[in-house]
Amino acid sequence: MDYITKSDLHTHTIFSHGKDDIEGNVKVALEKGLTTIAITDHGPGHPLYGVKRDNIKVMRDEIDRLNDKYKEINILLGIEANLMTIDGETDIEEDYLKYYDIVLMGYHKLGFKLKYLPHFIIAPIFSKEKWAEKFAYSYKKAMERYPIDIITHPGYGINVNIQMLSQFAKENNVALEVNNSHMSMSLEDIITAVKNGAMLTVNSDAHISSNVGNLSRGLDILKKAQVPSEKIINMLNKPVFRNNRRNAL
Ligand SMILES: [Zn+2]
Ligand SMILES: [Zn+2]
Repeated sequence: MDYITKSDLHTHTIFSHGKDDIEGNVKVALEKGLTTIAITDHGPGHPLYGVKRDNIKVMRDEIDRLNDKYKEINILLGIEANLMTIDGETDIEEDYLKYYDIVLMGYHKLGFKLKYLPHFIIAPIFSKEKWAEKFAYSYKKAMERYPIDIITHPGYGINVNIQMLSQFAKENNVALEVNNSHMSMSLEDIITAVKNGAMLTVNSDAHISSNVGNLSRGLDILKKAQVPSEKIINMLNKPVFRNNRRNAL
């Protein structure tokens, strides 16, 4: 199976805890022949490395400038929001949606509200399967409530029922991520997700510009699972994202 990857939809910069600036990531994406890159720093709800709200407009302006400068690549502003409660609340904030072309959301240790520590960390130790189902519902509620395009690294830091999650993702038009840095989806998970009709995406999750477009481990496992390229949004000519800002373009 031959894959032609057009985009890397998950990269970080100095605006959260990445090492390089936006232009640094863009230059590497260009070198690697990508036609789309998304800048997706951590959501403002993360206490250690969330993007500062004041910087979201700054990032938008910089990306608009870079889109003018580099005509051969499409640069998207996104966010990697946090799953903050078991009821599916996130730090995707209505006032900022107008700046985003794409919205990612994932579970991060410390990215949730502290009072949910017993639910996210302690309870699953004693009842793994039950909580894996509960967390699938947490993601479902989030997908229904916010215009999420991608669930990042499902299974990373949290055990989630992929059978259920992939059905919910399919229903809500959300792609599940094969993350080249964390590799949280197993071969079996990927096969299950595709069987359930969910779309997939493969991204670097680069925190340093030289890692932008590094997708080889992710592509290897997708190949092994024999996922057709039309099921992987990075390989579509014109993926449609759910957030209105993007759809209006
Ligand atoms: Zn993440
Ligand atoms: Zn990330």
